[in-house]
Amino acid sequence: MNSQELIDLEEKYGAHNYHPLDVVITKGDGVWVWDAEGNKYLDCLSAYSALNQGHVHPDILKSLIDQAAKVTLTSRAFRNDQLSLFYKELAEMTGYEMSLPMNSGAEAVETALKLARKWAYTVKGVPRHQAEIIVAEGNFHGRTISIVTFSSEELYKDDFGPFTPGFPMVPYGDLGAMEAAINENTAAIMVEPIQGEGGVLIPPDGYLQGLRELCDKHNILLIFDEIQTGLGRTGKLFAQEHEGVRGDMTIIGKALSGGFYPVSAVLADTDLMGLFKSGEHGSTFGGNPLGAAVARASLKVIRDEKLVENADELGQYFIDQLAEIPSPHVKEVRGRGMLIGVELKENAGGARRFCEALQKQGILCKETHETVIRFAPPLVIDKETIDWALPIIREVLNMD
Ligand SMILES: *Cc1c(COP(=O)(O)O)cnc(C)c1O
Repeated sequence: MNSQELIDLEEKYGAHNYHPLDVVITKGDGVWVWDAEGNKYLDCLSAYSALNQGHVHPDILKSLIDQAAKVTLTSRAFRNDQLSLFYKELAEMTGYEMSLPMNSGAEAVETALKLARKWAYTVKGVPRHQAEIIVAEGNFHGRTISIVTFSSEELYKDDFGPFTPGFPMVPYGDLGAMEAAINENTAAIMVEPIQGEGGVLIPPDGYLQGLRELCDKHNILLIFDEIQTGLGRTGKLFAQEHEGVRGDMTIIGKALSGGFYPVSAVLADTDLMGLFKSGEHGSTFGGNPLGAAVARASLKVIRDEKLVENADELGQYFIDQLAEIPSPHVKEVRGRGMLIGVELKENAGGARRFCEALQKQGILCKETHETVIRFAPPLVIDKETIDWALPIIREVLNMD
């Protein structure tokens, strides 16, 4: 079938909860994908950073096939070898003593919220069911009802109430507003160290450190949602490292499985993670041997291929080169590592038309917040490929 026929099927039979570009991908390899007609594109979205290791990485593919032939699902009623090894390797790589595996990012966020509430009642002494977790405006943490409760995007929540209480919201990047929102029932602060979906928003210098100080001062847990920013994307293993801070919990997902399979996790030390007692939380597929094997291979690729270092070096190069492109439409280029946003001026006619023009020229990007084009290719990208893309981006940023 050709692309148009496949698009027609999708539009007829699929829920319309997305508005994808009209490109039907049938194959991927590294930083490249191909459509149904065989046209080749550079993937500059990486499935929202789930593909840091690139499409169909051979080592991760092998781990998937090998493990699928052995055992795929045990449930947590029994133990499995891959999960034990995954726990150990994740702890060694991240410096957190323990972890709790789930599947989607949203589930890991829910897990972190539950753990923070449990800590509030059993350790901090907050009166039962009074705990508050402060979040930031412009956040993106997923799509469950509790999580969209504290979205500031009306589209994500307007028709989906009633909502979950206990999530005060303050402007992102504003330490004063954060401190003013703290009270004796505050259990945690949860933020993204860089807001990816929010438009690649980097908070003012010192913000993350300031949050750490506020949390220490008021006996509050600091939770970093690094589902998009973590595992190398910003040129550090975790984006919080840019300010030398460490969250009490860090939430990861997306690239944890190199795009093969949904695997997410909450990271914390033993004194905190140890609060979960048997039966209090779980997931049928969370920690399954197939997912654990794939995640182990995905972490190994990040280490072996020095993807963190590559994101740092080539990301800076890409940002610098993009910033030098003269264009009547660009307001600002910003980014850390390989998470880059090109913000367009109000009168540029929106980011989507630029994404559509880039698609025609063989580069796949997605607008985030009507006016920002996000460039976030797989971290296996090389300089040659960036140099191939730059003149195309330059031309598109100069169209009428
Ligand atoms: C993608 C994302 C999530 C949600 O992950 P899903 O796997 O889509 O549920 C949560 N937080 C951040 C920062 C994300 O980028």
